[in-house]
Amino acid sequence: MKRSTGQDRSITSKWRPATCAVRGGTWRSEQGETSEALFVNSGYSFEDAHTPAARFAGEEPGNTYGRTQNPTVQMLEERIALMEGAEACRVQASGMAAMSAVMLCQLSAGDHMVIARALFGPTRWVTDNLLPRFGIEVTPVDGRDLDAWKAAIQPNTKLFFFETPSNPTMDIVDIAAVCGLAREHGIVSVADNAMASPALQRPLDLGADVVAHSATKLMDGQGRVLAGAIAGSAEFINNTLLPFQRNTGPILSPFNAWVILKGLETLNLRANAQADNALTVGKFLEGRVPRLLHPGLPSHPQFELAQRQMSNCGSVFAFEIDGGRKAAHTFLDALELIDISNHFGDTKTLLCHNASTTHSSLSEETRLAMGVTQNLVRISVGLEDPQDLIEDLDQALVKAGL
Ligand SMILES: *Cc1c(COP(=O)(O)O)cnc(C)c1O
Repeated sequence: MKRSTGQDRSITSKWRPATCAVRGGTWRSEQGETSEALFVNSGYSFEDAHTPAARFAGEEPGNTYGRTQNPTVQMLEERIALMEGAEACRVQASGMAAMSAVMLCQLSAGDHMVIARALFGPTRWVTDNLLPRFGIEVTPVDGRDLDAWKAAIQPNTKLFFFETPSNPTMDIVDIAAVCGLAREHGIVSVADNAMASPALQRPLDLGADVVAHSATKLMDGQGRVLAGAIAGSAEFINNTLLPFQRNTGPILSPFNAWVILKGLETLNLRANAQADNALTVGKFLEGRVPRLLHPGLPSHPQFELAQRQMSNCGSVFAFEIDGGRKAAHTFLDALELIDISNHFGDTKTLLCHNASTTHSSLSEETRLAMGVTQNLVRISVGLEDPQDLIEDLDQALVKAGL
């Protein structure tokens, strides 16, 4: 019985990404189960009084309490670390728990942070409303503009944070250039990789220090559970993130970890098939709507950069239709197959009007600076036959008078 090869870096370091996705992190109990076991426990009991004393003192490895370790959660952490090419990973209760933890664990009053302005709505709430309350200054820049990143650096700049492709406007950040700049200045760079997933893009290989995730999206990919992840060097994960996470408690439940573990086994297949379908649907819409933002099509201003840093351009893209919010809502209401949903990365195709949902809490000014107009809709393409998706989009556009 190959009991814990998935936890042994001397073995897994030889495995290719597809193998890591299926077997990385696997640890078998003495029962010899093939599928990863679900350990539903919060506490641990000990053989003798010395054992917990040594573990609490950090002198011996081993479980102490469910807020710090759980075997199912640890299998997921090791699998994500291997898939991202990271030394270590810790998972959180949601993507937003991961985004806020990755900032709060390393920033203090008086620090400064530079962000790409096109970020997930709640991430902007954290940077715009929460961090300033604790004396942390944040400068948003156009993430596509390397000179803007450079100009925003101050002596107290500690962190660069971006997502690429950005949600929903599909801006591409040049990971190697921006993270190289950060490194030159001793600044930690964090990439939110939720839109691509490690199946399509590996920011650490391109020079990012830390990768943060909403595992709710492609990693689960079937609309079941929320989860987040942070991966990076063992030094960062164990000495900077872990003390914060252990004491504040945004941990992932074992059941949700188990669901994501099983999701990762098919991530490569799903992410690539959905990206292929998204390209087919994008090519149809390109001739049908006034403006399309798809990094996998040559009409995208950053097409070449996307080709360079992504192995496939993802399942999500955006497009504009004429007529503002009213026409957009009429179009959504006319869909027969595609669901109206703000979720993405799912096997089911989903469509969202971001200005009235995911980005509605932002000021009109912030929204427009990000390119989220009332004409914009975002599509997350799933695993259906792309021809059925095209026919549904076409008939809905006709019904909306477009
Ligand atoms: C969804 C999302 C998040 C937040 O993740 P949750 O799991 O919903 O909390 C953060 N960043 C990006 C890019 C996302 O798409």
